[in-house]
Amino acid sequence: QKAIAVMTSGGDAPGMNANVRSIVRTIINKNCRAYVVMEGYEGLVRGGKDYIKECNWEFVRGWLSEGGTNIGTARCMEFRERKGRLTACKNLIDAGIDALIVCGGDGSLTGADLFRSEWPSLIKELKDTAIISTEKYDRYKHLNICGTVGSIDNDMSTTDATIGAYSALDRICTAIDYIEATAYSHSRAFVVEVMGRNCGWLALMAGIATSADYIFIPEKPAQTNSWEDQMSEIVTRHRANGKRTTIVIVAEGAIDNNLNPITCDDVHKVLSGRLNLDTRITILGHVQRGGTAVAYDRVIATLQGVEAVNAIIESTPETPSPLIAINENKITRKPLMESVALTKSVADAIAAKDFEKAMSLRDVEFKE
Ligand code: ATP
Repeated sequence: QKAIAVMTSGGDAPGMNANVRSIVRTIINKNCRAYVVMEGYEGLVRGGKDYIKECNWEFVRGWLSEGGTNIGTARCMEFRERKGRLTACKNLIDAGIDALIVCGGDGSLTGADLFRSEWPSLIKELKDTAIISTEKYDRYKHLNICGTVGSIDNDMSTTDATIGAYSALDRICTAIDYIEATAYSHSRAFVVEVMGRNCGWLALMAGIATSADYIFIPEKPAQTNSWEDQMSEIVTRHRANGKRTTIVIVAEGAIDNNLNPITCDDVHKVLSGRLNLDTRITILGHVQRGGTAVAYDRVIATLQGVEAVNAIIESTPETPSPLIAINENKITRKPLMESVALTKSVADAIAAKDFEKAMSLRDVEFKE
C-alpha cells in the first residue's frame, strides 16, 4: 500500500479544503494510505505524528465548501535551505511517505520541484551518515511529487484558473456592489485596492464584472505622462453622461512605466484634487480570501484532486513532476517546472519593462 501525503502551502485560498478532501478520499478509494502534512513546509521540517498525520474518510467531512485551509499553511524559511529540506526528507521517510501532493502557489510549487530533484542526494546523505538504513534507502529512493495550484491571484501560467481565484473575484464584486450603493447616495468616487501580487487578473476581471470606470494593473502599466489626463477624461465623460458613481480599481501590484508603484493615494489625489470629486479609498484586504468557496472552485478543486492522485499513482521515477491544470474546461497535466518557469518569466518581463511580452505571456489582449 502506497502512502501519499497532501499539504497546503503559501497564501490560503478558498477551495484548498475541497482539494484536500478530494485528494484524501481518492487516495483511500485507490486503496492507498492517506496522510496530511499540517502547516505547510513547516510541518515537513518539524515532522512527527503531530505534523504528518494519517487520516481517514471522515477526517475531511464537510470540507467541500469551507474557506481557508483546515490543515494550516505557513511561510517556512528553513525549507528554503538545503538543511531544512534534509530534515524534511528524513521526516517523510520516518512517516513512511512515498509521494507528496502540494497545493499552493508558484513559490510552494518551486519548492516542491526543488525538493523532488534534490531527493536522491538528500536520501543518499542520510544513508551515508547512517541516519537511515540501506533498506529504507532502497525503499524510498524516489519521491513522486504533484502540484495543484491554490492561489487567489490566478497568477500561474499554463492553467486557466487557480483554485480560489473565482471565490476571491466573487468577494471583490460583492464588496464593490456594496460600495456602489453608498457611492451613488453621496455621488462619491471610490478607489478600491484589490489583491493579486504582481498579477492583474483579479483587478481586470473585477473591473469588467463591476463596470469600473478605470483600472490599474501591473501588466499594462500607467503611462507617467498621460494616465492622469486619460483617467480624468474618462471619469469626466462618465459623469457628464449622468453617472453618480466613480469606481477605480487598483491592483496591489499596479505600477507605472518606470516600475514605480501606483497607489490608491496617487489616484485619490487626481480624483479629489483635479476633478473635485468627494473621494474615498477602500482597501479590501483579507476579506477577499474569506468565506466559502464558490461552486467553480469546489468543482475544479475536486476534479483536480482526483487527477492529482491518478498522476501520482501513474508516475515513474522518470516522469517530470506534474502540475494539475484546467485548460479550456478540461482537467490537464502540465510539467510543473515549465509552468513555474513560465510564471517567473512574466515577472521577469515586467521587471525588464517588456510589457507586451508580459501581456502575451498572460494571454491578454487589449482591444479598444
Ligand atoms: P501565494 O501565491 O499564495 O503567495 P506561494 O506558494 O507563492 O503562494 P510563497 O510564500 O512564495 O507562497 O511560498 C510558500 C513557501 O514555499 C515558502 O515559505 C517556502 O517554505 C517554500 N518556498 C518558496 N520558494 C521556495 C524555493 N525557491 N525553494 C524552496 N522552498 C521554497
